[in-house]
Amino acid sequence: MIPVDNNLVFTPENINTSSEPGVSIILRNQEFLTSKASEVLLFEDDDLKWSEMKFINKHFLGYLGKRPCFVSCLEDSSPISDEMILSPLRSLLGRIPDSIFNIFSRSLQIDNWYISNQFCGGCGKGIKAHETERAMICECKNKLIYPTISPCIIVLVTNGEELLLAHNKNFPGEFYSTLAGFIEPGESAESAIEREVFEEVSVRIKNITYYGSQSWPFPSQLMLGYHAEYDEGLISPDGVEIDKADWFNFKELPQVPTGNISISGKLIESYIEKLNS
Ligand SMILES: [Zn+2]
Repeated sequence: MIPVDNNLVFTPENINTSSEPGVSIILRNQEFLTSKASEVLLFEDDDLKWSEMKFINKHFLGYLGKRPCFVSCLEDSSPISDEMILSPLRSLLGRIPDSIFNIFSRSLQIDNWYISNQFCGGCGKGIKAHETERAMICECKNKLIYPTISPCIIVLVTNGEELLLAHNKNFPGEFYSTLAGFIEPGESAESAIEREVFEEVSVRIKNITYYGSQSWPFPSQLMLGYHAEYDEGLISPDGVEIDKADWFNFKELPQVPTGNISISGKLIESYIEKLNS
């Protein structure tokens, strides 16, 4: 095993053209093999060859520095070392650097796509991996099936020193966050923001500005983050997804996500920084 060098840059690629020895992260049923202290573990090819672990799939992810990086997928019944545990990615949020989060996010989505696409939706026959693209292919119509990403918007609505934050029915306790939702087919990101905000809290917004994005592999969202200003309307939670929503002064926020965990936290922190500057 080799330690994770947080300075190494990860470059996603679909086909490995390097002859350098590879490194793997290890996955079983959407959980990563880590140390008992949740440290990320990278395995050399030789570590895997001489271990007792048994694998069903191995997917190339890209390059970590110059070395090819893979996700190796364990068989359900494979033994693992007593010093290691399997950790879901959610439990590692905030404890791993963004570069490793990106690799883990890519691993989950590629493995999930691969195991969910073993048969053709057109003719029902088994399909195989394309040789030169990240795609599954069926011989019936040379149909290619690529990994699917679902774009979502996530938006912090503000009114001067006040932030509009909402409590989703599924959130624990008094945890609040920004508003978010899936972009519908045929819809622009900006229209989706206006629609979602109005549907969820009955408020109209203006001056939408793009902030940044984050891959969110639960299971395959790409979160597009925005700031927007309040225009008109009284907050009224939809009662379906959102059970509570309110304006909070930036100095008296409830429990919210932090920027090292999610883009929601980054939207909040960047706005507060702007107010303080
Ligand atoms: Zn087919």
